[in-house]
Amino acid sequence: MPAVGPARLKPSALLRRYRASLRAKLVSIVVAPLLVALVALLLLMTLWGDRVFQALLAYKVNSDLLVAHEYFEHMVGGVKDRVLQEARSHALAEALEGGPGHGGAMPAVLAGARRAHGLDFLQLLDPQGRVLAAAPAGASGTSQAGWRVVSSAAAGRADAATDAWSAAQLAEVSGDLARRAQVALRATPNAAPTDRTLETRGMVVHAAAPVVDGAGKLVAILHGGTLLNNNLAFIDTINALVYQPESLPRGSQGTATLFLDDTRIATNVRLFHGERALGTRVSREVRDQVLLRGEKWLDLAFVVNDRYMSAYEPIVDSRGQRIGMLYVGYLARPISQAKDLALGVLVGLFVLLAVAGALFSLLWARRIFTPMTRMVGTMRALKAGNDNARVGPVRSEDELGQLAGQFDQLLSDLQQRNAELRDWADSLDRKVAERTRELEDANTVLRATRQQLITSEKLALAGQLTAGVAHEINNPIAVIQGNLDVARDILGPAAEPVRHELRLIDEQVRRIYLLTNRLLQFVRPEAYAGNTERLDVGEVAAGCVDLVRHMLKDAAIRIELACLATRRVRISRSELQQVIVNLLTNAIHAMPEGGNLTLATRDWEGHGVTLHVRDTGRGIREEDLPNLFNPFFTTKKQMGTGLGLSISYALVERYGGRITVESKMGQGAEFIVWLREDGSGAKPETDGVES
Ligand code: ADP
Repeated sequence: MPAVGPARLKPSALLRRYRASLRAKLVSIVVAPLLVALVALLLLMTLWGDRVFQALLAYKVNSDLLVAHEYFEHMVGGVKDRVLQEARSHALAEALEGGPGHGGAMPAVLAGARRAHGLDFLQLLDPQGRVLAAAPAGASGTSQAGWRVVSSAAAGRADAATDAWSAAQLAEVSGDLARRAQVALRATPNAAPTDRTLETRGMVVHAAAPVVDGAGKLVAILHGGTLLNNNLAFIDTINALVYQPESLPRGSQGTATLFLDDTRIATNVRLFHGERALGTRVSREVRDQVLLRGEKWLDLAFVVNDRYMSAYEPIVDSRGQRIGMLYVGYLARPISQAKDLALGVLVGLFVLLAVAGALFSLLWARRIFTPMTRMVGTMRALKAGNDNARVGPVRSEDELGQLAGQFDQLLSDLQQRNAELRDWADSLDRKVAERTRELEDANTVLRATRQQLITSEKLALAGQLTAGVAHEINNPIAVIQGNLDVARDILGPAAEPVRHELRLIDEQVRRIYLLTNRLLQFVRPEAYAGNTERLDVGEVAAGCVDLVRHMLKDAAIRIELACLATRRVRISRSELQQVIVNLLTNAIHAMPEGGNLTLATRDWEGHGVTLHVRDTGRGIREEDLPNLFNPFFTTKKQMGTGLGLSISYALVERYGGRITVESKMGQGAEFIVWLREDGSGAKPETDGVES
């Protein structure tokens, strides 16, 4: 059967839950001994209680038997008293005087006395025990000397006994008595087997008393008795006496029986159909114990059709023989049912108490463990990421309650420490970032300084070299130029065929001269510094356009002038011209396919004037921008010297100005020359303009 309801926990799951619950374990520790004690107590009560109950039942039935026994003895004593009383009676004495024979008054006196005393027979015997007269009549001449009671009376002592009389002995008294004694045997299960079918003997209580004359001489013996077979009045009296109303629990019922040997001869035990169980026999077990071994029986016994708490004792005759039994007993079922009910109620009460106790313990344990349960919940919430989870206030003031409080305190401390640690880490991060930035700045400065150093060193070296070279070249150049002029003069018109070549030599010589001059100007600028004057930059710029106009012929370049500056600046005109021409030349070179060249001036508020040279040429590669103002940096191969911008920068810088550039590859470039009004050496603020 694989289908197990989802709600039903498997035993292993239950076990796991039990193992995970401290509360369940503690409750088990408390409840388990209690349960064991309860079970032990119940077992003890069931077993021991049962034994005590049995003992009580036996005790009661034994005392019942004592009462019955007393009554039986009393009855025997009663027979003796009545016989003795009659033996001493005046009527008997008078009748004796008249002679005991049939002719006298004796038969009538005996008959009257027998009736008056409720006896079954009354006999007058001679001192030897022979019957002189009897009531009922008809037994004269027979001898009763064999009975102990008769011999006791012959010896002058009244005596009574219970004896079993044979059918013949009964018949000697009267045929009627013998008939009344007969009890037909009934087949009874569990009884000792027998082939008899009729009990003809009789159990007789009889007594004898001496009859004496005036001188005290024994003249006769009075012998009387009662037959107990079928004597229902007798047995009912015993039963009524022993089991008086209210002496037994409701539903139970008392019984009394007289046995001759093992046969019921007088009983109030009923058969199934209500008839008295006369003629049934006792079980073999009881018979063996009571009749054979002479012991009392005090136990449950099966009587006819039900279990009775029974007491049997032997009845001993005048010769000391066990001739029968006296029995009393009561139906045990209602009593044991009442006991079982009481026990059931007790067990139920115990179970109820145990369950209630366990439930109460559980609830109590739950209350005790509330702080613990909440701590576990808090831990789960913490694990799930809720840092603010807390146990919160608990009602308990015991160790667990204190623990929960301290747990919360610990969590708060931890949270605070965590926050502090986080803040610390953040500030550390910030500091690291700051330091990194500072380091980067320092690095940038370092790089710039290094670059500057390299540049200065390069310049210094180049300066020395070029100064020497330029000087050395200038002399031969002067000689060449001089000689060329001389040759042209000498040749005069003859020089016409080589005029073109001479002009080329002329140009190239001037170029060399210019170059050496520039080099010298670059390495020793102060030597070339001209006179300064306050100039209108726009006017100088417009003049420069004329200087480069011849270069515009090849390319379709439109020049636009927008000179808006109102201020003037103090600077050497030739140097300013050199700077502007250089910028214009570069712009024209950058637009071989043509374009727009804008030349503009603006006021540099509070400082001086800015000059803007903007073209729409090929632009400058980003990686070239930092090197633009380095000496000898050029992209024009043999065509360029790489000195134009560096010389221009050095010139402008001498007047406290600066040159910056903005460009994007393919979108042209704009060079801005920042010129100070007073031409002092202070560096300009470039307002974030890239340079
Ligand atoms: P040269 O002109 O002899 O090369 P410069 O110092 O004048 O030397 O210029 C250096 C370099 O700067 C040039 O080779 C050129 O690559 C670049 N350059 C200068 N001006 C411009 C411009 N307007 N557009 C594009 N490139 C320019």
